[in-house]
Amino acid sequence: MSQYWSKLVHSLTPYVPGEQPKSKNMIKLNTNENPYPPSPKSLQAIHEAANEGLRLYPDPNSDLLKQSIAHYYTLEAKQIFVGNGSDEVLAHIFQALLKHDAPLLFPDISYSFYPVYCGLYGIDYKNIPLNNNFEIDINDYNQANGGIIFPNPNAPTGIGLALESIEILLQQNPSSVVVIDEAYIDFGGVSAVPLINTYPNLLVVQTLSKSRSLAGLRVGFAMGHPDLIQALVRVKDSFNSYPLGKPATQGATAAINDKTYFLDICARIIATREKLTLQLEELGFEVLPSQANFVFAQHPKHRALTLAQALRDNHIIVRHFKAARIDNYLRITVGTDAESEQFIQSLTDIISSMA
Ligand SMILES: *Cc1c(COP(=O)(O)O)cnc(C)c1O
Repeated sequence: MSQYWSKLVHSLTPYVPGEQPKSKNMIKLNTNENPYPPSPKSLQAIHEAANEGLRLYPDPNSDLLKQSIAHYYTLEAKQIFVGNGSDEVLAHIFQALLKHDAPLLFPDISYSFYPVYCGLYGIDYKNIPLNNNFEIDINDYNQANGGIIFPNPNAPTGIGLALESIEILLQQNPSSVVVIDEAYIDFGGVSAVPLINTYPNLLVVQTLSKSRSLAGLRVGFAMGHPDLIQALVRVKDSFNSYPLGKPATQGATAAINDKTYFLDICARIIATREKLTLQLEELGFEVLPSQANFVFAQHPKHRALTLAQALRDNHIIVRHFKAARIDNYLRITVGTDAESEQFIQSLTDIISSMA
């Protein structure tokens, strides 16, 4: 705290990202990164971008990347907005489209960055509790609001929402922007992208951090009606005209274009997730049905925090949230088969030593 800080800075409660350990001999199952390397074609494109052309500013609009995304999803480039990670895209969305007189609605259990953006931009919000099965019930959103946002599949539960429910939500809230944060959609959920041309109030956000193994490159994007995209461009051009450097634009474009590699690693992660779920259930865990690259699980006899600490002593990091309703759950990122096996082995040893 300092006398030099603005009133706003004094009031902020920043987001705390999952730990990035300095030591390399850790199995990292705590931040939902992809255990597989990025597409070789993407790495090649990033290498090729490292040339004397870096002397010049990049294309402020990242047109190359927008065209690839538009082609991939059968949209037009004017329906795409790209940014420095989907966190930055989300920040612009909160400021440009979700700040109104009525409160913004989002689930009590969801991405913990949402309330942080509300604090930064002075947005009034209301938490809508998930039902007892940790599912989103869209009827709970039938109330005055200045916008709606949630991840699908939700985080940290991993539970997906049916496309029919999203469509009803869009119809019930024609004067609000509905933002679907699809950070984990490629691991088995059903994307809302096909609804974009029908609903001008729908904005879909995706990232290359999870399913395309590029968390370190920082590229995310939003898709929706050109009027919504224009609002985001206005905020971007009032903040930072060049959010993506040339290596990021070129690496991301190559990653989007390498569909074969992408589908292969997603399928591998889904297969490992299904095996991991069964193994956790055999150990007595209750595992929520996940459509993401992580599982959310609790054990009726062992405290999550105790298990997380014991795993850490065995050089395995998982995520535990000290929050109401989910305090006894562990969020475990799906690693490679080998990492997953080692995790289950350690957990088996820990539980048997506690019995
Ligand atoms: C990981 C994540 C993001 C942010 O992804 P970046 O593109 O790396 O900033 C956004 N929303 C949810 C729900 C996430 O889990």
